[in-house]
Amino acid sequence: MTLDKGTRLADLHVHSVYSDGEDEPAEIVRKAGLKGLSIIGVSDHDSISGVREAIIAGEKQGVEVIPATELSAIYNGADTHVLGYFIDTSNPVLLEALDRFANARRDRAEKMVKKLRDRGLKIEFEDVERAAGKGTIGRPHIALAMIKNGSVRSMDEAFYNYIGFHCAAYVRKYEIEPAEAAEIIHEAGGLAVLAHPLAGRAGRPDIIKILDAGLDGIEFRHPRLSSEDSEYLKSLAEERSLLLTGGSDYHGEGRGPGGLGECAVPAERVVAMKEALRGYSREALIK
Ligand code: AMP
Ligand code: FE
Ligand code: FE
Ligand code: ZN
Repeated sequence: MTLDKGTRLADLHVHSVYSDGEDEPAEIVRKAGLKGLSIIGVSDHDSISGVREAIIAGEKQGVEVIPATELSAIYNGADTHVLGYFIDTSNPVLLEALDRFANARRDRAEKMVKKLRDRGLKIEFEDVERAAGKGTIGRPHIALAMIKNGSVRSMDEAFYNYIGFHCAAYVRKYEIEPAEAAEIIHEAGGLAVLAHPLAGRAGRPDIIKILDAGLDGIEFRHPRLSSEDSEYLKSLAEERSLLLTGGSDYHGEGRGPGGLGECAVPAERVVAMKEALRGYSREALIK
């Protein structure tokens, strides 16, 4: 898609310190303003804790902030992320689920630290907790703790040699199906969008099954997606009348996969999301 100079842009996939991002929500909003973005979706992994702060900062700076989250699910053994947009952040079903995920993430990180220690690495769970700070604890924080104590030189090295899917210290996460993640999002009155499909281990047949299990949209623009896959996902969405979203998956200036504003989509995509929400009653979303 070619964009006019005047096109208002939306980066619908951004992480803050409330998961594994480097920036406070207000800092992200400030940077978004400087980049001329009109809309951002603050979509922390299994967390909504940064949304309020971002909305308040956004109101001051003229950046619209969409309340969002990125729920961790597993499909056919592969990590599958489901973005939730326009969620009611006070919804009890959502809050209960996030609480469950937070506890499970803690247990899992403890187990992974134990496995690393069993392999002779000098790492304490407290180091990982410190790296996580306010964020939902996860492998990126284990990687940061490993860098800090000199076990590895980069996050990539930590993922590649120790904590990636095929590695010895890997422990599976709390497992929910993408359809369950979509249900939680629908309970909270939001739209469920499949995050960066085809950028992970799930292939095209899996993606179709996941979409047909109750998702409302596809993230078709993402730094890890080839233009060929992006076109394929667009055609899939058109066939199924699904929404199309996109964003940078920004985690901070020094972290991948994208810089703030990369893979942003025209604000019209957000208008379509709002229209879809108006068209559905909450009951219809839950069905
Ligand atoms: P977790 O949710 O704890 O399993 O951690 C997965 C998260 O780690 C992903 O959502 C990414 O944000 C991040 N991640 C995956 N691979 C890397 C990598 N090589 N370097 C930095 N972060 C990564
Ligand atoms: Fe992340
Ligand atoms: Fe993701
Ligand atoms: Zn993400």
